[in-house]
Amino acid sequence: MPPYAFQDPLIIVPALAGPYACLGEANVSFSAPAPMFYLGAHQPHWLWHASLPLFVSHRQLARKVRLRPALARWALDSGGFTELSLLGRWDTTPEQYADAVARYAEHIGNLDFAAPQDWMCEPFMVERTGLSVPEHQERTVANFLHLRHIAPDLPFIPVVQGWTIDDYLHCVDLYRSAGIDLAAHDRVGLGSVCRRQSSNEITTLVTTLQSAGLRLHGFGVKTGGMHRYGHRLASADSMAWSYAARRQQPLASCSGHKNCANCLTYAITWRSRLLTDLERRGQQTDLLITHSAHAAA
Ligand SMILES: [Zn+2]
Repeated sequence: MPPYAFQDPLIIVPALAGPYACLGEANVSFSAPAPMFYLGAHQPHWLWHASLPLFVSHRQLARKVRLRPALARWALDSGGFTELSLLGRWDTTPEQYADAVARYAEHIGNLDFAAPQDWMCEPFMVERTGLSVPEHQERTVANFLHLRHIAPDLPFIPVVQGWTIDDYLHCVDLYRSAGIDLAAHDRVGLGSVCRRQSSNEITTLVTTLQSAGLRLHGFGVKTGGMHRYGHRLASADSMAWSYAARRQQPLASCSGHKNCANCLTYAITWRSRLLTDLERRGQQTDLLITHSAHAAA
């Protein structure tokens, strides 16, 4: 398994009917754990049209009156970035959110994990709430404990928040003080990195937390971040395809929209290219390592 390869259970199943007929799921076994890539989706109904791992926001899904079983595994974003940006606080209570996640788990199924109602620590967000980074971190930990207490059977994950590397290590300590060993969790969300992930600081942060035994989920990882530190993550999601599509003409095969920012066909093509690039880069890395080893021998 090349170090950059992401799990890709997508195969072509031409016999399927309907508008997304090219999609299907394969049972793929790997000799070593590989990062899981969740395609960020604006449209929750992709859950029942596309057989590939998706990342869907509670804010979009909550509008859906009728839910159906998902065709593939998926993960839930709490929508915290939007809610805190708009309101400067969480208006949705933990009880309301837990009730919604229970509904999704029952009627959609295949839910790998749900993000908690965490508090991002970007400077503009801290300014928006009028609080401080330590207060955001304490509220993030408290919310995870609260959700776990009221809904112990739902797959909420802890999220580490901060701005500097020391902040994040402090957040790990906060969880430890609350009796939570993050290294024992299958997945730990990495917060507040979406807008600075190409920096060396984030690569160092990811490496530091990975070395501490944390199996990280990267929220909103862009293409550059995926290449830099994607292989150090347990999973990642990305909406980068939509931002790219917004600046381009629609695909030649598309009609009915002026760009492909909400287009599943574009998203699938982008995803395939990304996973192929990551795998190729991993193989090149392997070749370089092998060559160096021979040269040194
Ligand atoms: Zn399109």
